[in-house]
Amino acid sequence: MTLLNDDYRHQGMRKHLVQTIKQGPGKVSDEAVLRAMGAVPRHMFIDDSAFLSLAYADQAFPIGCGQTISQPTTVAVQSQLLRVEPGMKVLEIGTGSGYQTAVLCELGAKVFSIERHKPLFETTKQRLVRLGYKATLMHGDGYKGAPLHGPFDRIIVTCGAPEVPEALLGQLKLGGILVIPVGPDGRQKMWSWSKIGADIFDRQEHGSFSFVPMLAHKVRG
Ligand code: SAH
Repeated sequence: MTLLNDDYRHQGMRKHLVQTIKQGPGKVSDEAVLRAMGAVPRHMFIDDSAFLSLAYADQAFPIGCGQTISQPTTVAVQSQLLRVEPGMKVLEIGTGSGYQTAVLCELGAKVFSIERHKPLFETTKQRLVRLGYKATLMHGDGYKGAPLHGPFDRIIVTCGAPEVPEALLGQLKLGGILVIPVGPDGRQKMWSWSKIGADIFDRQEHGSFSFVPMLAHKVRG
């Protein structure tokens, strides 16, 4: 489908989006993050071609199953806080559209990502393969993390958690960083937790954000 090609128009819109992110409230300045976001064709993570023009607006967008692709500024802020270096093992909770997954791949990470909604997991798996992004996608409950693949250098949660899941802290390497929005539905504070000792964390808050909730326990088909 020609609409889904990555043409000069899309590339131009993407350049503009990166400028918006740089100048916006997040003040993201990490060049590697900005380069990664300039490289990922966000319009290919939005199913409905009627909304292609909105793909490069700095806003969240519905992706089915009542979920959203995160706002680009939010993706940039979380990616910057994560301080990914090439080759790092990164766990993402909440694959959704796979957009954040692709940004992490562009940063050179070895990405593992968990999605709770089976239809999203399946669509996104195919999408990432089609776009050439190699990530290990899992259908399951992010509260449990991915113990068989851990420990991780970095963990990023892309849904709003009521509290920081113990299992995720346990799967962080020493020196590792967890970036997680914590708080009630749609009103979270962004936190980074750096593991500085066996069970010792340096915690920092990074402002208010709005996420769909992290859903507990049951894994829906
Ligand atoms: N990173 C995604 C953001 C999607 S929104 C993107 O770039 O598109 C958050 C996602 O977290 C949703 O797809 C939702 O289904 C998923 N989610 C919510 N609770 C979860 C849980 N307990 N485990 C795994 N995924 C979960």
